[in-house]
Amino acid sequence: MKILVVGGGGREHALCWKIRQSPLVNTLYCAPGNPGIAQLAQCVQLGVEDIEGLLKFALAEKIDLTVVGPEVPLTLGIVDRFQAAGLDIFGPNRAAAQIEGSKSFSKDLMARHGIPTAAYRSISNHAEAVAYIREQGAPIVIKADGLAAGKGVVVAMSEEQAIKAVDEIMCDQIFGQAGARVVIEEFMDGEEASFFAFTDGKNILPLASSQDHKRVFDGDEGPNTGGMGAYSPAPVVTAALHDEIVETIVKPTIAGMARDGHPYVGILYVGLMIKNNQPRVVEYNARFGDPEAQPLLMRMKSDIVPLLQACAKGQLDQNRIEWHDKAAVCVVMASGGYPGDFATGLPINGLEQAAAIDDLMVFHAGTGTENGRIVNKGGRVLGVTGLGDSVAAAIEKAYSGVAKIDWKDVHYREDIGRKALNRRPGG
Ligand code: AMP
Repeated sequence: MKILVVGGGGREHALCWKIRQSPLVNTLYCAPGNPGIAQLAQCVQLGVEDIEGLLKFALAEKIDLTVVGPEVPLTLGIVDRFQAAGLDIFGPNRAAAQIEGSKSFSKDLMARHGIPTAAYRSISNHAEAVAYIREQGAPIVIKADGLAAGKGVVVAMSEEQAIKAVDEIMCDQIFGQAGARVVIEEFMDGEEASFFAFTDGKNILPLASSQDHKRVFDGDEGPNTGGMGAYSPAPVVTAALHDEIVETIVKPTIAGMARDGHPYVGILYVGLMIKNNQPRVVEYNARFGDPEAQPLLMRMKSDIVPLLQACAKGQLDQNRIEWHDKAAVCVVMASGGYPGDFATGLPINGLEQAAAIDDLMVFHAGTGTENGRIVNKGGRVLGVTGLGDSVAAAIEKAYSGVAKIDWKDVHYREDIGRKALNRRPGG
């Protein structure tokens, strides 16, 4: 088979690493890829939003299956374009990708199908938004309706902070059209977890549990980021809770999407808040999480390619997933200053020494090549991912890789996975 992976971050490096191991695959392309991916796949210099360029390439190369990593091409309709041209592609079509692309779409879906989530109101009028905040009081959560690169959510601890957020989103339009409407939501406390399931639109196949770390500093301090690390399994998701998430959230979501006329195909990401063993949905994403994909894919024992194919072809009823009986931990190494401004082009040392460690993968995200050297290019630069017999052993393994790598001003959290070590199951 010939496979094309769309994307160029840590998630896509992990996908390429896993897909490359399949005996079904002869040729693997990645657009645009990155220097780490280039060791596994042929990188094609096409951007993820260049839908027509990607389609032309896939047709010319007779690609058997395209796997889409990030959300933006999904919301732009890459799946619709490829399917119309007769090509198999893994991911939701444009209508179904609204589950991530529009917060009011996903909140209305949950309300319609009785899926547990925070109470909310979807509002497109500024004065009405302010009045609703005054009525509800703080803490309260303000969300730009559309995609805002993970930055469109403000968890406001005071009414003033909430109103400031609404001013910035609706009046100053800091997220452009994505902020023409806001969703104002009840604040939920508890412990967050990520839950993923493959689906062909009818059948679902859940993945192992995982948890990411969104804040930039140790102890969950500082601003939100794309994710500073992740681990799997997540002990907060007990076996009983796993079943409850499948029955009360994942199944009704997939059935609801089909009933509403836009069946969802691909991988569904459910961000959860768990309190007293009760899961509620924080958000949906239409793709693998980054960095959760890195530990999950390292733990996956089954060949991923038949799973991706079965989803794309609507034939997921016969598949199972086997997992390695190990834990995995991914520590993100970021550019100093991220998620704010940071310097780029700084040479990275120690990559080969880290790569020599067993049961460890250094997944590239924001790296580039300058004068034959690997340098930092983005905010999140590497996802150093280790396997171990327990979360504690996997933490040790991942940080043994981190210790080999450095560059000027590198930043990473030192407490990734620690939450899993001495917690009480059930949230
Ligand atoms: P989202 O983009 O919807 O995942 O939101 C980003 C982050 O904001 C989440 O991972 C949570 O940490 C936080 N958040 C979002 N919605 C809520 C809520 N209703 N209550 C508490 N925290 C929330």
